[in-house]
Parts: sequence; structure tokens; C-alpha cells
Amino acid sequence: MKILIKNCNLISMDESRPKIEYGIDILINEDKFEKIEKNITQDSSYKIIDATNKYVLPGFINTHSHIGMAIFRESVDGYTTQDWLNQKIWPIEDKLTKDDIYHSSVLSCVEMIKTGTTTVNDHYFSPNSVINAVLKTGIRAELTRVVMDAGGGMDERFAELEDLISNYNKKYNNIYISVGIHGLYTASKPCIKKAIELAKKYNLNIHMHYLENSMESIDISNNYNSQKPYNIVKDNFKDTNCIFAHCVKLENEDFEVFKDYNIKISHCPVSNLKLGCGIANIPKMLENGITVSLGSDGQGSGCNLDMFDTMKFTGLLQKGINENPKLLSSYEILKMATINGAIALNKENLIGSIKENKLADLIILDLSSVILQPINDIFSDIVYNCKGTNVITTIVGGKILMEDRTLIGLNEDEIIKNCENIMIKYTNKKRA
Ligand SMILES: [Zn+2]
Repeated sequence: MKILIKNCNLISMDESRPKIEYGIDILINEDKFEKIEKNITQDSSYKIIDATNKYVLPGFINTHSHIGMAIFRESVDGYTTQDWLNQKIWPIEDKLTKDDIYHSSVLSCVEMIKTGTTTVNDHYFSPNSVINAVLKTGIRAELTRVVMDAGGGMDERFAELEDLISNYNKKYNNIYISVGIHGLYTASKPCIKKAIELAKKYNLNIHMHYLENSMESIDISNNYNSQKPYNIVKDNFKDTNCIFAHCVKLENEDFEVFKDYNIKISHCPVSNLKLGCGIANIPKMLENGITVSLGSDGQGSGCNLDMFDTMKFTGLLQKGINENPKLLSSYEILKMATINGAIALNKENLIGSIKENKLADLIILDLSSVILQPINDIFSDIVYNCKGTNVITTIVGGKILMEDRTLIGLNEDEIIKNCENIMIKYTNKKRA
């Protein structure tokens, strides 16, 4: 099917085009952008979307989340990261069924479709449940079976990851597989070595938590004969494509290794604040030419998957703690949420901007609401005043997943009810 989006205000994030263009038509042919120009000739067979006065952007790329964790939304207040995992998350995660994780993942996918994310980089276990949710909802996802060996079980986890690779790598156009390592504090040297070998063998990205809080650095040194985290990275991660999530507690040497090895960062400011981890040094990452993309983390620590929140916190935090309002332009933050996410995932030729022959992932924004008007600076208006609810239409790979705020082929009430029942089952909480 061909879709023709008429007369939009286009923010393509494509460097070869102006940052904003008015009165543009976009023709989508099957799963790709075919033509992006003014006054494209209509054909009666096209599905027409009138986008007059609306803004079109590439869909957001959320580079760190745990989409099976929707049922843990707002379960963290009053806990440290380690206490929250030990007391609230891991005891329940051990009991979760495949169905529980499927329903939780469906809710997350719907949350992303309704708030403008078209690609997510997921980090969880039970990959078949996550895959079924991704296929059901039509979002684009890179996913994994996370490996670690703290507490045993390394071989089973690797067997599941290898099954995942052999069954699903390159099987679907909207599903990609990565090698997920939980973190250096939970994965020993033999474990990371095996994971890295696997990533190299199949040319897959590595997705890992890294230096989220001060305690983690101590735990890593205890796990690695008093070695510093950056030395472990330096000794083991050469010639890999890595996305490290959080990176709040980087030392000078970390910046050097990240630069040398082209390690990409998923900055998760909301989660870092909620868990009291600290604030990542984004200006120093950028000064060193390191790719910074944005992530929401799971709903347990990250509150929600709305990338507008993530963008707003990214800008406000850095300006505030550095006492410098000139830091991070809004356009730069938009890049972090779109094209930088594609670079982090090694997929900048496929997604991240609206460009002929790229995969047709886009969102349409209605900015007519009073809190967005009048528009002095469109990029700042989007980064600081827009909310997920301003996204009216979401298209992934040429498929309309939401049109005029209505989900296509999904029953939102049922999806919420399913997750509520799971939450009640494990916490014995009565419905509010
Ligand atoms: Zn995480």
C-alpha cells in the first residue's frame, strides 16, 4: 500500500535537508519512504493523510528499556537500585510466566506507539514473550536474552540466547537481536568473554548496563580482582559495537576508552534521578565525540516510556547542574532521540531520519494545544513543552499503528486490565 502524507511541516533530521520545511508531501511505498517533496501527484489508490499544520518527525528511538517491566511501574520509591532489585524486582521476576511478560510487553509497546517511539532497544529475559508482543503491536525492536552469571545459571541463559539468535536473527523486518549483558557487576570475565565472542560471530550489538551508580563501581572491582571498570572494558570490548546504558559514574579513563572503541551511550536521566544515581556528564561525552542517545529504562525506575520526558530532563538537568543555559541545543537533544539512536544501534542507514529509501517510521504531532502556542522556537517547543499525548499518528515500516490517537487493531482497555491482574496476582494489592 502507498500512503501519501500531505502538506506537513517536516523535521526530517536528515542533515542534507533544512532543519524544518513547510508544505511537504511524503510518499510511503510499502515499508520505505519513496518521495519527500512538495506537491506529489496523488493517485486514487493512495491512503491520504492530511497533515496541514501538523509536524512530522522520525519516530523516536529508545535505546534502553526493559519492556517486560511495565507491571513494575512506580515500585521503586524509597529504595536504592540494589535494594529495589533484591527486594522488589527479582523475587517477582523469578515467578513471572511467559504470559505475564507478554502482556506486560504489549502494554509497553502500546505506551511507546502512543507517545511517539517507533524503535526500542530492549534488555530483558523471556525473549519469545517480548517477540510476540512486538509482532502483535508492530513496533520495531532490537531485543535480547540478557546474560549474567551471578547466582549461577550462565549456561542456560547462553543456550536461550543462542536459540534466540538462530531462530530470530534476520527473520522479521522489525526485529533485531543483540547480545545483552546485565552488567560487569553480575557477569564474570568468562561470561563477558563468551558474550563478546557470540556478538562478534554473528555481528550483533552488545547492550549492557554500565556504571549506573557509585556502588556498582565497587561491586565490579570486587567481581574482577580489584580491576577498574575501564580496564575491563579496554581489555575485552575492542572491535565490538556496544551501547552502554546509564554511564553516570564515568572516570576520565572511561571517556578515553569510549572514544577509542566508539562505545555509544544510552542516557537515561529520569531513571538516574528516580534511583538517586546521579547525573551523567553529557557535555564531556559530547566534547569527546561520543555518541549519546536516549533511553527511558523500564517503568519501574524510569516512570514511563515517554521520550518527551527524557528529552526535557536531558536539557534541563545539564543546563542546571553546569550553570550554563547555552549547553545542549534543543535540536541536538532531538538528534539524541532520533538519528543518534540509530547510530547507537548501528542502523543509521535504515532508520533515525526521514529520507528516501529509509524505513518509513514517523510520527505526526499536533501542536495546536495552548501550552505549545505561540511557537517561537519549534525545536524547543517540542523538547520542552510537548508530551506523548501530542502524537496523533504513528507509522512503523509503512504500517499505521495509531491514527488520530486511535490504536489500529489493539484493545487498550483489555491490555491495561491484563497487566492490572498480573500486578494484583503478585502483590496481593486490591484494585484502587
Ligand atoms: Zn536498565
